[in-house]
Amino acid sequence: MERSVVKFSHCQKEIFCFSVPEDCPACGESLTGRRLEEAPVCLPSPFTNGHKTSCSFLLTCPQENLDRDIDGQFELHTGISDTRGAVYNYTQCGVRVDWSGWERCLHVPLVRPDMFNLQAQWDQYLQHFSRAPMWDPVWHRFDEESHNCFSFCLRFMNSVLAMQGSACVTGHQFTRSFVLPRVKRASKYTTLCRHIGQRRFYLTGSRREEEDEEDDCN
Ligand SMILES: [Zn+2]
Repeated sequence: MERSVVKFSHCQKEIFCFSVPEDCPACGESLTGRRLEEAPVCLPSPFTNGHKTSCSFLLTCPQENLDRDIDGQFELHTGISDTRGAVYNYTQCGVRVDWSGWERCLHVPLVRPDMFNLQAQWDQYLQHFSRAPMWDPVWHRFDEESHNCFSFCLRFMNSVLAMQGSACVTGHQFTRSFVLPRVKRASKYTTLCRHIGQRRFYLTGSRREEEDEEDDCN
């Protein structure tokens, strides 16, 4: 499971770590029994267990590859969760329904909590949509570029939008508005965790650190 990062400030620096230490890593002053300048804040992990989401767009994030894949377009796998934690995803062999393997994801909720009708019909829509010949390898070939896991998600989202009488969304719009901001945040978080894992702390506010690390973490 992802460790959460704690942020607190002392001696005009922001300090990121996995748990508040006894002494300030910047000035060495003891922190026990002292009031910090502000209460430590927990930075929640951007990653979610996809099987615990409902009616969401999911992007899997393998632990190691996030930084490498961040510039590549959809080298990561995408899918749609139903209301029971099953993830429908399109592969070379057709649509798979996974009950495991999506434990570390970025997710975009697709249904507002007050949309009860849509939630009630979601699983049925998703099942029905997945059975279309378009996703059957006998009828239609998987294509890395043009008929892939993201095409499946996008077409499904657009079929739901059409049923709701809403305008459809292009892959570019969806990626720019919903996917990239999450990928960027996840990438920063991963970098921060790696830094803390190696050096126990990440400090901002000290000039040397900022010069060294600004490109990585800010
Ligand atoms: Zn200090």
